[in-house]
Order: sequence, then structure tokens, then C-alpha cells
Amino acid sequence: MKLSDHDLLQLTEEELLELPEEVLRRLSIKLLYDLKEARERLRQTSRNSSRPPSSDPLWDKTGSNNEKEDTPQQAEKDELSGVDDQAPDTKQAAKNESEEKNQGEANGLQQPTTQDDEASVKRKAGKQPGAPGYGREQKIAVTAEEHHYPTACARCDHELQQHAAKAYTAFETVDLEWADSKNPGIHLTNTKHTYYETDCGCGHCTQQAPHRQVAHHLTPNIFLSEWRLVGPGLAALMVCLTYRMRLSRARTQEFLSDWLGLEISVGTINATLHESGAAALPVEDELVEAVQNSGLLHVDETSWKELNTLLWLWVFCGQSVVVYWIAGRGSELLSNVLGSAFQGWLMSDGWQVYRYYLKRLRCWAHLMRKAEGLKDSLDLTARVFGEQTLLLLNTLIKAVYAAREGPPDQALTITYQGALSDYRRVCEAMSAHTTHTPSRALAREMLNDWEAIFQVLAHPHLPLTNNEAEQALRHWVILRSICHGTRTEDGTRILAILISVIETCRVRQQSPWIYLAEVIRQRRAGFPAPRLPLVKGSE
Ligand SMILES: [Zn+2]
Repeated sequence: MKLSDHDLLQLTEEELLELPEEVLRRLSIKLLYDLKEARERLRQTSRNSSRPPSSDPLWDKTGSNNEKEDTPQQAEKDELSGVDDQAPDTKQAAKNESEEKNQGEANGLQQPTTQDDEASVKRKAGKQPGAPGYGREQKIAVTAEEHHYPTACARCDHELQQHAAKAYTAFETVDLEWADSKNPGIHLTNTKHTYYETDCGCGHCTQQAPHRQVAHHLTPNIFLSEWRLVGPGLAALMVCLTYRMRLSRARTQEFLSDWLGLEISVGTINATLHESGAAALPVEDELVEAVQNSGLLHVDETSWKELNTLLWLWVFCGQSVVVYWIAGRGSELLSNVLGSAFQGWLMSDGWQVYRYYLKRLRCWAHLMRKAEGLKDSLDLTARVFGEQTLLLLNTLIKAVYAAREGPPDQALTITYQGALSDYRRVCEAMSAHTTHTPSRALAREMLNDWEAIFQVLAHPHLPLTNNEAEQALRHWVILRSICHGTRTEDGTRILAILISVIETCRVRQQSPWIYLAEVIRQRRAGFPAPRLPLVKGSE
């Protein structure tokens, strides 16, 4: 822009009328330039620019421009403006959380709460300490009983007899049985677990106790425990409703109440999600290994908000694996995940952290959207440059598709050598001489990433677009707009691991929910997390 707001504020009709002709001419050139640029900006959509579809104006979202090539500072500024700090649902969640705490005390259940981290946000929303709580009143018919006896004296290892045992505590766990085609529907069970203690001849009293442990060293406030109202299958259902079906905690509560007749507080739902995510954290090692062993990786990232901090949701799509991390936008995560172990091809956008990788591919869809934008420009040289770029890329796309069908007579790099060097000269000229900023930017991007962009001509089996990674982000971009991001470090961490497990199981055509329930069951009992299911048909 030639004229700042400060300039415009000072320009009045009266002043223009009084300006000498020569001054007015020069000023009108500046005004024309600014008007064209402003009109072009108005026309930008995901179709002709690098804006993600989610930035298209469904309604007027002030300051929601989070164009990928923005500087992080700019994106942060945009991201943080015009977004509510807390969604009504999260306020509700915090309210119910404190209800849940009182409920646990009222019951004498002593269920360790795992949402301390969330509740300890400085100004607690909702019910304040001291306000009356609500006890858990729902009574569910018991469908099965399990008795847990100590088998040997803890002190002298002497074998203990069941008939001498006395029950000292009990709790109920509601769970669901998996439906199948012969037995469809959701079937709930309510198992009463009774725990016993036995006096030994040595004078020692040994108690059998439900297992309980800190879930992971990264989440010291989240506990795994067998003493839970929500069984592993029901926990997996809550994860499904929250992440796969994108229901808020309050909607999940509504669903469980309306369809399953279960009255479960939002606090318990939240705690269950945290416990489930923390239970799955050890699976990350296996996911990283699968990413590193992929011959081809699609990587992409989109902004994510954790309370008031701007972060990035990264996705790594490899061979039968999809992994998400929420982190800063620096190259740290990339080098942490890939290290020196990754030897495959890396498909990405034009962001500079990726330039470090030699076997790099560029998404042509991004470049074509930008060229499409130039073609619609009001600047003549920009229109020509846009058309030339589109013509070349479209010709090469046809050639690449044909080469995939059957090997061409000679390598595509040789066939199109002439066309490529002509186009390179155009880019060099645009980069050096044009005053049209978007044209210069595209020309420079082409030149900077030349190798990565045209690599595919030497290897036509490699992909032309980063669609796979963009698709893998889409679902979560919608979730982001529903929940406005996460609120705590734990919340962020459990979201990333759960959605990684969910999507990896899905690309392997396996049920994420059966696997996740098993992870929760094993880890609550103190065992390691089972390995991820293999691709269906290759087990
Ligand atoms: Zn003993």
C-alpha cells in the first residue's frame, strides 16, 4: 500500500480540490495502485490464493486471516483477535468439574480426580468454592460381580484363603460390550467390584487393592486407576463422541443421558478423556518409528490456540500412519521427529523450515492457486505470468500422469528441458523487474524451491500435491473452530495423542475404539500399552 491510514485520514475532498494539477496526478497514481491492491485482496479466496478453505468468509470473522505464508507474529495477531477466550461449553465444563469434585467427596468414592490441572486455572469459571455440590444419585442395576482377594500375605508370602477374607471396599464400573452384526446396539454392563482383606497368621492384614499409578511422566497430575465409574469401552465411546464426532463435553453428556440413560457429569467426561489420552501416551514411540520408516511423508501445519498461546497443529502422514503434534512453528519439532533416521521423501508447503531436507517435494496445488490468483489480477504482466505458470504446470501434470501409466520414451526432465529453462528465465525476469508484489513472490518461490518443485519429473510416481496432509488436518480444523483450541498443556498433549491413535487406526482400517479400550484396560491394570493394530489383512 502506498498510503497509510494516517495519510488517508488527512486527505479530504476540499484538499483534493485545491491541489495543483501535477501533485494531484501523482497522488491519483498512488490511489489507483492502492485501489487495485485492495480490490485484489477482496477477491482472495482459497481457490485463487494460499488461504485455507476455513478462512473463507462464512460470515464476517474480523481478523481471521491466517494465511500460511504470514509471519508467525502476524498470524498470532490475527489469530488472537476476535476469538472468544472461552467457549460457553468450556465454561460449563469448568462448572461441572467442581461439581464432580464435590460429588466424589459426597460418595466417599475417593476417586482421584485427574483434571486438577484444568481446574487450577487461576480464575475458576462456574461454581465457586464453598457453594453446595451435588451427589451422584443415579443407581444402576448391577449386571455382574467381581471379587478381588489377596492371594498371599504381603509380609510373609504365606498363601491366604478366600474364606478368611473380609470385604473392605467396593465400587461399580459401567462399561459397554462391543456390538457386532449379529448383536447390534449399545449394551451396557455394570460390574460391582468388591475388594477383600485377609489377616495372616503372622498378624499382618493384607488388602487386595485396585491398581493406581501416574499415567506418564509428562502428565504427573493424571492418574490411571482401575477404580473408575467409567469402564474402558465407555471411555473409548466418550473419546469417539468428543474427537471423531466433535461433540463438546456438554453435548457428550447430553448424548449419554438421552440415549444411554447415563447421568455422567462433564467433569467425569473430561477426566475420562484425560486419562484415556495419558494412557495412550506411550504409543507415541511406535508412531514416531512408523513416521521415520515411511518412504514418503506428507507434512503440513495449521495454527492452534492453547489458552492464549499461539501454537501449530502439525500432521505427519506416512505409510499407514498419521501423527499429530501441537507445538511451536520452528524447525525444532521437525528435527525432533525426523532426526537423522528419516531417509524418505518429504512433501510440504513452501515454508522455509522444510528447505533443510534434500529429498523434498512441493505441493503444486499451492503454486497453482497462486498462479490462478495472478491470472485474475488487474496487472497485465501478472496476468501473463499467471497464465504461463498454469500452462507449464498443467502440461507437466499431464506428462506425469502419462508417465505413471507407462514409462515415457525419454525422461521427462529431458523432454521438458527447453520449456523449463524458458520458464526459469521468465521467473528470473519477474523476480528482478516486476513491481507487482504477488508476481515477484511467486517468481522467487519458484526459483528458491526449483529442485523440490520439479523433482517429480525425475520420479513421476511421487505425488504432485500435499492433499493427504491437508485432508488429515481438515477434520481438526473444524474441531478447532468448535472448541477454540485447548486450555492446558495436558489438554493439548492428550488431544494430539488421541487423534494420532484414532487416525492411524483408521488408515489401517482397524477400529480405533476397540484398540483404545484395550490400551486403557491394560494400562489401568499396570501393564504396558498394547502395540497398534497392523493394517487390516496384513495381521
Ligand atoms: Zn503373613
